Amino acid sequence: MLALIIVSIACFAAASTAAIACAVARRAVRRADRAVADVESARAAADAASTQLEAARIHGSIDRTRRRQVEAVFDVLRDAILVTDANGDVLHANTHASRLLSVASADAAGRPVADVVSDRRLSSSIETASRGHAGDGRSAEQEIQVDGEPVAFEILRRTVGDEDEPMRATVTVLRDLSEEREIARLKGDFVSKASHELRTPLSSIAAYIEMLVDGDADDEASRQDFYRVIQTETDRLKRLVDNLLNISRIEAGLMCIDRTCVDIGDLVQRAVTTLGPQAAAKRLEIHARPSADIEIDADEDMLYQVLVNLLSNAIKYTPDGGRITMTCDADNLARNLHVSVADTGLGIPPDEVDRIFEKFHRIENYQRLAEGTGLGLNLCRHIVETLHGGRIGVESTLGKGSRFWFSVPMGQLQMSVAA
Ligand code: ADP
Repeated sequence: MLALIIVSIACFAAASTAAIACAVARRAVRRADRAVADVESARAAADAASTQLEAARIHGSIDRTRRRQVEAVFDVLRDAILVTDANGDVLHANTHASRLLSVASADAAGRPVADVVSDRRLSSSIETASRGHAGDGRSAEQEIQVDGEPVAFEILRRTVGDEDEPMRATVTVLRDLSEEREIARLKGDFVSKASHELRTPLSSIAAYIEMLVDGDADDEASRQDFYRVIQTETDRLKRLVDNLLNISRIEAGLMCIDRTCVDIGDLVQRAVTTLGPQAAAKRLEIHARPSADIEIDADEDMLYQVLVNLLSNAIKYTPDGGRITMTCDADNLARNLHVSVADTGLGIPPDEVDRIFEKFHRIENYQRLAEGTGLGLNLCRHIVETLHGGRIGVESTLGKGSRFWFSVPMGQLQMSVAA
């Protein structure tokens, strides 16, 4: 019996031990499961954190890239741009602004706008706008001192962000109006000079026609005189309009050049023959000596026009008995034709040398000596430089004479020296 009890107790003990062992084992398994779950959730959290970090890194680099792109856009603009924060401190000054304000871009950043912009009116208006006290997108005109000179600017503003937003920024754009104003002035100048030049022959034509209609020319000889004046003035008007149209077509890029093989010696000879009678009337000697038979690839009619203009000017502005020399030389190495028309005439005052190539510019003292439109040299410059890619210029000594010259590329053609 005792043995049975002992065996039963032993069995019970064994069973209990096994049950305990099982329970321990189950707990251990649950703990292990929890640990695995913890590890997995920790890994997931780490993964999420690393994804967020990566996203932040990418965003940071996108922000930096965007910022650099915006700054690059600012820098290529011809306007001066100043970005300020809500306190009126400079966040960014583009290259043009730093040049205008004489401060390096990097030095401007972080400084109060009043330190960077010396013009008090401008700096206080930027400050006011930055602090949110000025209307958005406002445009105003203001003169600012640049290198000691007053320069007119249009000032435009745009604010990014609300008034209570800490990241609010104000962009101030300063647009230089000098070029615009100069173009408007030149246009006005051109229109008034062109109208004046057109009105002079027109008034004369109208007056002579009126006299003919009123019967003021009572004999045939007077009538013929009146007809001649009308014809001369009509020719002048036609020349003026033709020159004006040609210049504006070239300036608008609408003039096509018709390149052919041009014998420059023949062209010079034709110009001398055409203007020979005018030279003879003033007893002027013309020496034309092309150094060789030179052929170039150019627009024949246009080059002829240049030669005629230069020769006609030499005749007009050289007193009786003077001498005119035309030379043509080919630089076969550089493939350039060089032409010059030298006279023993009045010469050009040094301060007028650059101006005589401008539209309608005539030397005042010479105006009564010869008729002219002041467009001939401007057209020559366009034909030589704009259309043929050459150069034109003048050297002159007042009272002794002038030497007008031009050179143009010879193109693909060859030069053959005369036998
Ligand atoms: P214009 O029809 O008045 O001759 P141009 O444009 O051909 O017009 O010349 C402009 C001005 O340059 C002339 O009015 C004249 O004052 C000056 N000029 C041109 N050629 C000569 C020259 N050979 N000698 C002196 N002055 C010249």
